[in-house]
Amino acid sequence: MKAIVVGSGFGGLAASALLAKDGFSVTVLEKNEGPGGRASVYSEGGYHFDMGPSWYLMPDVYERFFAEFSRKPSDFYELKRLDPSYRIHFGNGKVADISPELGKNLELFESLEPGGAEKLKEYLESAREKYDLSINELLYRDYRSILDFLSGRLILEGRKLHVFESLDKFVSKYFRSDEAKKIVEYSIGFLGGSPKNTPAFYHIMSHIDLTLGVYYPVGGMRRVASAMKEMAESYGVEFRFNEPAKRIEIENRVARGVTTAQGAYDADLVIVNADYPYSELHLIEPRYQSYDERYWESRVLAPSAIVIYLGVDRVIEPLAHHTLFLDRNWENNFDEIFDPERAGWPKSPSYYVNVPSRTDPTAAPPGCDTLFILVALAPGIEDTPVLRERFYDKIMDHLEATTGEDIRHAIRVKRIFALKDFEERYNAYKGTALGLSHTLFQTALWRPAHQSKKVENLYYSGHYTHPGIGVPMTLISSTIVAREIRNKYL
Ligand SMILES: Cc1cc2nc3c(=O)[nH]c(=O)nc-3n(C[C@H](O)[C@H](O)[C@H](O)COP(=O)(O)OP(=O)(O)OC[C@H]3O[C@@H](n4cnc5c(N)ncnc54)[C@H](O)[C@@H]3O)c2cc1C
Repeated sequence: MKAIVVGSGFGGLAASALLAKDGFSVTVLEKNEGPGGRASVYSEGGYHFDMGPSWYLMPDVYERFFAEFSRKPSDFYELKRLDPSYRIHFGNGKVADISPELGKNLELFESLEPGGAEKLKEYLESAREKYDLSINELLYRDYRSILDFLSGRLILEGRKLHVFESLDKFVSKYFRSDEAKKIVEYSIGFLGGSPKNTPAFYHIMSHIDLTLGVYYPVGGMRRVASAMKEMAESYGVEFRFNEPAKRIEIENRVARGVTTAQGAYDADLVIVNADYPYSELHLIEPRYQSYDERYWESRVLAPSAIVIYLGVDRVIEPLAHHTLFLDRNWENNFDEIFDPERAGWPKSPSYYVNVPSRTDPTAAPPGCDTLFILVALAPGIEDTPVLRERFYDKIMDHLEATTGEDIRHAIRVKRIFALKDFEERYNAYKGTALGLSHTLFQTALWRPAHQSKKVENLYYSGHYTHPGIGVPMTLISSTIVAREIRNKYL
């Protein structure tokens, strides 16, 4: 049987490899020049930038994915556990390094507030418990109806799982100091949410970064994408780059194939990895859309971003591999992203700097650094060259003042990628970088479905679907889709 996969992000790469292993003849149609989707690569002057993901988290999920093929990540790439895992500037002059060792983090928390060590222990125990439950029972399941949801332990244990409580309330029960709260809350940014609009259940993120650890795949996230492409090709998957899908051909509720500017491809199955709203609104006829424009308008979108890629001609010592600069009043910053009334370019933003060359000498020429600066923005706001440059200066003023380094004079390569680029390069709805936030009613059953409601052989995998945002999640999403297809067609 023939399957067409639209898009070669991690969701598309994973789905294509799994389907090919199951015996499907798979063709992947990708709009851009290479694999990885949001994890694209930009190289210039000897500097190599992972354009999107830079945190390799949940190594267990990657292990489990490769195990489907009787392989291991180490067959393809080397992983380094980062030390420090990351550095945080709290916005009040205080700085802390988060260690891969629990003992050191306990000491840190004790120094932040009385009893901090014990509180962190309890918090992490709760996070571990929920993480184990998620991995074993929740994340790898599909939710098609409320019954699937109820039959899980979710409702039975709803209170214990803290799905009905916001993260910020939950965290306040444990910690008092601004710094301790920020350490356990910042990671919610990975899920495209704020501590106020994300269920406390997602405190599992602290098990993920503080206990499981933060890793770096040598060669960057692009190495992981190319490993998955290699593996897919070893099962016969054909990749066609620079070939965007124009239309999914549907007759009588059955997808017959996909048309591009270059040709028409027949298919017995179509799996869409391209962003869900774009695909529904632009690739299929309105009568076959499962979700219309009104639905997408009513969703809580995850942030867009401005990403600044800088190649500098020396090492910027004060920067760790991952450094977070958190605003003193970060609630205000969340409002500027999530409150439609206040959405706009942030006045005093929190931001994140990634320096892969700190760990990987191949990322930059010798003696140089590759900097990736990311600031979250509200999706759908105005994006012009003037606004970008003004904002760039604001961030650089702050970064230079905080690190005490004159970075601007060391720049050899500079590129800015923001809202409009997300729209143009990835067909991202309103320029969102991350898709759909993880509010309670955009979780599990309430995320857009893996299978079309109107077309019987049309499936969706990737960050819009359950379980959601992040590379490991998209691998799980495709694992679910491939299993459903296997059960139905083989
Ligand atoms: C700046 C940034 C930083 C991030 N940091 C992290 C991180 O540190 N760790 C982490 O785990 N996750 C991170 N994420 C999230 C993670 O990158 C995403 O959740 C994940 O990569 C999404 O994968 P996907 O396959 O669902 O979508 P995508 O990667 O967007 O793939 C979809 C693909 O579809 C293609 N496409 C679109 N339209 C068409 C068409 N008409 N025809 C053919 N192809 C089409 C696109 O070009 C793209 O290649 C980050 C994301 C961003 C943007």
